[in-house]
This record gives sequence, structure tokens and C-alpha cells, in this order.
Amino acid sequence: MHADLHLHTHFSDGTYSPEELAAHAVRYRLRAVALTDHDTVEGCARMAVACQQLGLEFIPAAELTTELEGQELHILGYFLDPENSLLLEQLARFQEVRRQRIHEMVGRLNSMKIPLQVEAVMTLANCRAPGRPHIARALVQGGWCSSLDEAFERFLKKGKPAWAPKFKISAPDAIGLIHQAGGLAALAHPGINHSDELIPELAAAGMDGLECFHSKHSTSNTQRYLEIAEQNQLLVTGGSDCHGMSKGEPLIGSIRIPYGCVERMRERVEQRALERSLLLARTSPPAS
Ligand code: AMP
Ligand code: ZN
Ligand code: FE
Ligand code: FE
Repeated sequence: MHADLHLHTHFSDGTYSPEELAAHAVRYRLRAVALTDHDTVEGCARMAVACQQLGLEFIPAAELTTELEGQELHILGYFLDPENSLLLEQLARFQEVRRQRIHEMVGRLNSMKIPLQVEAVMTLANCRAPGRPHIARALVQGGWCSSLDEAFERFLKKGKPAWAPKFKISAPDAIGLIHQAGGLAALAHPGINHSDELIPELAAAGMDGLECFHSKHSTSNTQRYLEIAEQNQLLVTGGSDCHGMSKGEPLIGSIRIPYGCVERMRERVEQRALERSLLLARTSPPAS
């Protein structure tokens, strides 16, 4: 029994619909999946229905853009209440700034004599959380680049001429936001960030888990993060980070974590909810 707890749909920069993703999850015999679109929970309602129809366990989630000590870190929020008002407010802010950033990056391309139009990117993205992959796809579609990699290498990677900085919230604020929405916070793909020295600080800020398993982690990376998780008493999470097809295969099939990880996460989130209701009962005035 396995799970994949890092998946994207076209509600952010993935290419699959929630229904297609759920169908792939069944094909790869997964028992549980989490939808972790960037800075949005918009796809969760449809994913929940699709999973229910196929007998899959579904965890509503999101991947938040954060920073700590000048480093961009992605924090995954699991078991979020997708209707939590503070969470939705913060996500709306992220989305607004993501749209502004598209204008800024397209402006930079225009000044390099690439007449890409913002509307073309927005139409292609067709979501509230547009990002660089949508610009990359538009550049390929318009014939200005021959591949997504080329678009990133020539224009969109940090430090390249069309890159613009992204709005981020502080990682401790993201952890607090996730907790108040009933969720658990985990650091995504630490092997990509090279920010291991920040993990104890994140754990001290209340972070619950570490994404030890990831499609871009080598076996030795995974082993290392399993040890770091244990040292810092963090839950083990993991997933493929599927955005669609990769090298001719859906990436969702590439990483599967033991279902026991999901059980431990569920225990933690239930324990949190119990503690919160006990605290509430203790602090609310007695009924007269
Ligand atoms: P953004 O959220 O706009 O900063 O875009 C980040 C996303 O771009 C990541 O989640 C990746 O999915 C994608 N990405 C980053 N580098 C590349 C690349 N070289 N080729 C294709 N996609 C990439
Ligand atoms: Zn992405
Ligand atoms: Fe990420
Ligand atoms: Fe991701």
C-alpha cells in the first residue's frame, strides 16, 4: 500500500486535470494521494470527488512559496481546510502577485524583441496561480523556443533576463497559516534547495514533516533526509512532484511512499485537532 503526496494539476502549473490525475493514481495502485498545487487549493474540491469515485484516499493540500534567510523554500500544507478564510485570503494575495509577475516577465521578454502577449500566457494558463512554466509553454508554442528547458535556460531561470522575483511569505508564517487551517506543514524537496542548515530552525518554528522521498532525490539524498527527519522528530512525507508527463511517462508513477507515512500524519493531525478543542473548551467562558 502506497501514497503520492506531491502532485500538481492545471489549477497551477501541472498539465493533468484532477480526474486524469486520480485515474493515473489508480493505474499505479496508489491508496492515497495529496493535491499540492502552488499557492492554491482551487483544485481540491474536484480532486476530492474524483478520488471518492475511484475509491482513493484524498488529502487536500497546497505548496506554498516561502522564504527563510533569503532562501526560497516550498512548504507543503497537508490536511488543509480548503474553506479556511485566512488561508484563502493569503492564497488570493499570492495569486494576485503571480499575475502581476507574469506581466513583469512578459514585459521583459517584449523589451528583448519577443512580442509575446500577456493574454496568450493567461489564456494558456487558464488558472489563478500562473507561473513560469506557463510562460515557457507560450514561448514554445509561439516558436521562440524549441523546448521548456530552453525557455528556462535562456530567459526564465533566476538570473536570466526575463526572470522576476516572486512574492513569498516567511516560512514560519506559512507554518502558522497551515496550522490555523487545521493542517500539517512539511518542507518540500530539501534536496533541491540545499538548505539543510535551516531544517532545525523550521522544526523549532513548529514544522511537522520533511519530504524525504522526491523524484529529484537520489537514493543517498533520501537516506540522508530520513536521518535528518528522525534527528529533528519530523514526520516523513514524499511524492513525485508530478506536473504531467516526464520522459514519456506520467511522473506520478515514479515515487511511491509507504502508506504508513499517511497513517502517522493522520494521527498527528487528529491529535492536534483534539488538543485545539480541549484548549478552546478550557479558555471559553462557562455557559451561564
Ligand atoms: P514559478 O512558480 O513561477 O517560480 O515556477 C516554478 C516552477 O517552474 C517549478 O514548480 C517547476 O515546476 C518549474 N520549473 C523550474 N525549472 C524548470 C525547468 N528548467 N524546466 C521546466 N520547468 C521548470
Ligand atoms: Zn510547479
Ligand atoms: Fe516545489
Ligand atoms: Fe511541487
